[in-house]
Amino acid sequence: MKALPEIAALDADMRAWRHHLHAHPETAFEEKATSAFVADKLRSFGLEVHTGIAGTGVVGVLRAGTSQDAVGMRADLDALHIHEKSGVAHASQHAGKMHACGHDGHTTMLLGAARAMAQRRNFDGTAYFIFQPAEENEGGGRVMVQEGLFERFPMKAVYGMHNWPELPVGKIALREGPLMGAYDIFEIVATGRGAHAAMPHLGRDPMLFAAHLINALQTIVARNIHPLESGVVSVTQVHGGDTWNVIPQEVVLRGTVRTFEPEIQDLIEQRIGEIVKGLASTFDMAATLRYERRYPATINSPAETRHALAAATALVGAENVDTDPTPSMGSEDFAFMLQAKPGCYIWLGGSRGAGTPNLHNPHYDFNDDALAIGASYWVTLAEAQLPAQAKVRAAA
Ligand SMILES: [Zn+2]
Ligand SMILES: [Zn+2]
Repeated sequence: MKALPEIAALDADMRAWRHHLHAHPETAFEEKATSAFVADKLRSFGLEVHTGIAGTGVVGVLRAGTSQDAVGMRADLDALHIHEKSGVAHASQHAGKMHACGHDGHTTMLLGAARAMAQRRNFDGTAYFIFQPAEENEGGGRVMVQEGLFERFPMKAVYGMHNWPELPVGKIALREGPLMGAYDIFEIVATGRGAHAAMPHLGRDPMLFAAHLINALQTIVARNIHPLESGVVSVTQVHGGDTWNVIPQEVVLRGTVRTFEPEIQDLIEQRIGEIVKGLASTFDMAATLRYERRYPATINSPAETRHALAAATALVGAENVDTDPTPSMGSEDFAFMLQAKPGCYIWLGGSRGAGTPNLHNPHYDFNDDALAIGASYWVTLAEAQLPAQAKVRAAA
């Protein structure tokens, strides 16, 4: 791997920015200092800067030449509610908050790319540098799209990346189609008739209903989905009862569904509804279901995946690009941007070897050795996707 010279020259600066961001993590929609840090840096590089999109989101605009062609690159700003235990010198100074997903690294790499592209001006058109808030749980990417991101900043495609601690540093993984799963949640409230536990015949037991329901829900993946398709149904919470000798009146179950294909998502949602209704009738319960779709699947479009592959290959060599990684059932709100625009989301290797803490672990710390690779990828990709710079073209 050879980082671009302008990126190699920025490596020490990028490490310092990353450590600053890591030490000062901010969570969903509260990324005020992070957002100001990004906006200041972009202005100092000479970019036009738009702030206040989805609250704390920032878009940097870099124009060169006269072409109307434009591409977007996206990073995320937010940290997690985790108490850091990494022990590194730049560990979180905000108790209970931590950059445990490496968004500090993502932000830094996109800043590095903006700086290098502003210096090189090796393209004709517009590069948009999108810094979104609240990737974790709260859908800041969705809010940016709803607030007109792509109308205000028209672009032909949008690209994303995530550091991947399971993949060695220096490697990149990507694939056409789904790379991350859709994230849905459900809540089932079962209401029976409370009774003395020694006189169950006088009540209607929602606890027994819950036991059968958990089993029955597992039949959806096992018996309704094609064996070669994938889905996950996990009941993750059961709330009911307060003491030994009372059959409770009510039990609440909650859980999550993960899928890649919309048809499978539809099928699982439909089957959960049918099973809840059917079992409630069997057990003479009143049961309600709330099913909510949070994040769609992250689906890479064909042409843009080829562009991303070309940039990755040019940078790290074909032997270091995995073009058929097993997709993750984790989810990503970049998916909302990919629903609105064609694009590609890749995984950037970040492993330090065996035992590297994974994302969302309190011992995790973004691997700084990946910074120059990720930033060089952005520049290589964006320059290849925009027409060549006018003067360069004239000279050729
Ligand atoms: Zn995360
Ligand atoms: Zn993340």
